[in-house]
Amino acid sequence: MVEARGLHKVFGHGADALHVLRGVDLEVPRGAVCVVLGPSGSGKSTLLRCFNELEEITAGSVHVDGERLGYREDAKGVLHRLHPTRIAAQRSRIGMVFQRFHLFGHQTALENVMEAPVQVRGLSRRAARERALELLDRVGLADRVDHYPVQLSGGQQQRVAIARALAMDPDLMLFDEPTSALDPELVGEVLAVMKDLAASGMTMVVVTHEIGFAREVADHVVFMDDGAIVEQGPPAQVLDSPSEPRLQEFLAHVL
Ligand code: ATP
Ligand code: MG
Repeated sequence: MVEARGLHKVFGHGADALHVLRGVDLEVPRGAVCVVLGPSGSGKSTLLRCFNELEEITAGSVHVDGERLGYREDAKGVLHRLHPTRIAAQRSRIGMVFQRFHLFGHQTALENVMEAPVQVRGLSRRAARERALELLDRVGLADRVDHYPVQLSGGQQQRVAIARALAMDPDLMLFDEPTSALDPELVGEVLAVMKDLAASGMTMVVVTHEIGFAREVADHVVFMDDGAIVEQGPPAQVLDSPSEPRLQEFLAHVL
């Protein structure tokens, strides 16, 4: 599970400081799906990036499966930054899928999915290939394994990106607007893969404006505004009877 406590993120210093996360508390139990909504600039991507240690947090803590990200607390309660190799190991347990797919253009779908297990985990090419084929089959791309990214549609590329993240056997999957760069007719196939993943018990934090997905798949919906969570709860409550005016206004625009 993921647990953020009093999470703050400030970019820059002094007069230029930008306080982007202002005390976020969030708990996502193991196997649960949390959908994060919020207007542009509210801090959604930054929150995910803190969960994946792409950003160093300014204050507060994030725990994944009970282990504190980035720091070790000694007997006196003093925090020590973990060694970069330890941080890399933590990060490798957390999969992230971005709006833009970031596939390696010179590698086939299969090679993209095999890359990290071989390079980071030291898995044999044979074992990595077997697992990659299994994952590509799972995302519906068994017949596209030897295609290069340019030969794939956006929806197919995004499914390769999901398979690639899954190849590291993550404890947690983070999705940052995974369908918002796709043509409308390709959104469904990616959401279907995510829905299957949720049904398989994966813990997921998903930033998306796909309200239908939130309603159907989320256990918990969070609405962020200006760096803070202003409303959260089960989808039916948050989406159908929002109490916060900013959320009412937001929903009126996205629905
Ligand atoms: P969107 O819906 O447009 O993706 P968001 O909710 O994901 O927005 P963030 O990308 O988290 O918002 O950005 C929140 C704020 O933090 C914005 O004002 C942004 O300009 C600022 N910000 C993000 N990354 C950095 C950075 N590396 N340095 C400085 N400011 C940053
Ligand atoms: Mg964003």
